[in-house]
Amino acid sequence: MIALGPWSNDLLSKLNCKLPMAYERGYRQHFSSTTEQPLSRPVHDVDGSYVLTPMEQGYRITSGVELKERDAPPSPNQLEAVIPSARQAFPLGQPLDKPWLGRRPTLPDALPAIGEVKQCPGLWLATGHHHIGFSTGPATGQLIAQLMSEQDTDIAPQAFSPNRFF
Ligand SMILES: Cc1cc2nc3c(=O)[nH]c(=O)nc-3n(C[C@H](O)[C@H](O)[C@H](O)COP(=O)(O)OP(=O)(O)OC[C@H]3O[C@@H](n4cnc5c(N)ncnc54)[C@H](O)[C@@H]3O)c2cc1C
Repeated sequence: MIALGPWSNDLLSKLNCKLPMAYERGYRQHFSSTTEQPLSRPVHDVDGSYVLTPMEQGYRITSGVELKERDAPPSPNQLEAVIPSARQAFPLGQPLDKPWLGRRPTLPDALPAIGEVKQCPGLWLATGHHHIGFSTGPATGQLIAQLMSEQDTDIAPQAFSPNRFF
């Protein structure tokens, strides 16, 4: 079973079963606080186009989506663009780390690929969870286990079949 998120095609391309996967990249960076009265909740500044979240690591500021090749060099332009605006509204101090870059593995219909590949019997996929893999991973784990052990499934599996791409 291949469950390699954004790296799934590295292996699938060797098996001639490449998925039409795109990469929605996102950045985050942590900042110290300049006040002893810390922010108590996450804030989404819609006009400013950022989310600021108080974390143990400091104030975390996150960017929007960047559509680019998976391994293209980091370009945290969106993050750099919103930091001045966040500084006007919140007590952001110094950066505590460099911008972190993550990649979301996204398929054209925004559904994951979960199940056995017909053209390659014995090859199972659980990948392509785009923005919501933390939340939906447990359901995927349960579904793939039920499919592999030929049990009734709690979720209808058809919409997630990898065979929609092959
Ligand atoms: C910026 C950002 C914000 C996100 N926010 C949320 C959110 O708020 N809520 C939410 O539900 N989801 C969120 N996600 C999405 C979530 O992170 C993914 O959907 C989820 O991580 C996918 O899980 P996965 O196990 O399929 O892949 P991954 O978590 O990417 O795991 C794949 C693993 O495969 C490993 N790997 C790669 N190649 C090899 C190899 N050759 N051999 C062995 N191992 C290998 C990698 O090291 C990695 O550990 C976010 C993603 C990003 C990037």
